[in-house]
Amino acid sequence: MENKSLNLSSLKGKVIAIDGPAGSGKSTTSKLLAARLGYTYLDTGAMYRALTYYALTNKIDLSDGETLTKLAKILPIDFKTTAEVNRVFLNGNEVTDEIRLPEVTKNASEVAAHQGVREAMVLKQQEFGKDGSIVAEGRDTTTVVFPDADVKIYLNATVEERAQRRLLDLMKMGVTTTLQELKDDIEKRDFMDSNREHSPLMKAKDAFLVDTSNMTFEGQIDHIITLIRSLLK
Ligand code: C5P
Repeated sequence: MENKSLNLSSLKGKVIAIDGPAGSGKSTTSKLLAARLGYTYLDTGAMYRALTYYALTNKIDLSDGETLTKLAKILPIDFKTTAEVNRVFLNGNEVTDEIRLPEVTKNASEVAAHQGVREAMVLKQQEFGKDGSIVAEGRDTTTVVFPDADVKIYLNATVEERAQRRLLDLMKMGVTTTLQELKDDIEKRDFMDSNREHSPLMKAKDAFLVDTSNMTFEGQIDHIITLIRSLLK
């Protein structure tokens, strides 16, 4: 394991932003990377998911941008993170598993498309990252949230590979679904996220593309840490 012997202490205080489409491996990669660097891990998608979960459970109309924006400003969203798990709290209640349910996944893009919601979330995300030493993961972290990040990485993988990974994750959670359903879902989300008016999903010009389709998870982490070191030396 080459990366475990690398001296990472010179990398303190940096902002690393990781972006990419659904299922590209952002979450697992960013979480482990943050743990290896001793950084805070910020899962921006979890924040949109938490708001979506709140809206669904409280029967709030998902097209009502004004109400959702108000909620985005006031709802407390907190994290307790280790290398293995990123626990998410909404209003003090743990919603770690609930925000991964397919119902939330399907509807998060609609909630995240409201400009007011995005503005409120971006401010919270920038506050989390104001002291650096952060790995921030999510659609617009390289373009809007941390445009001046020290390192920007855009992870990608084929739709087939991304659907396979989601299937394994959901099976572990006991959720039954099919590969085809997940592929359709990912394609739909890619389309919505790439074509929305505000902060569409796109690779920042200065982001490094890492295609993880044929990489093992460990290989991916090694590759990224080597990349970060070469960029920051
Ligand atoms: O990354 P994750 O799948 O958890 O994100 C859930 C949804 O939240 C995405 O489909 C996307 O619509 C939205 N999102 C966003 N901007 C981010 C992170 C997530 O719009 N920075």
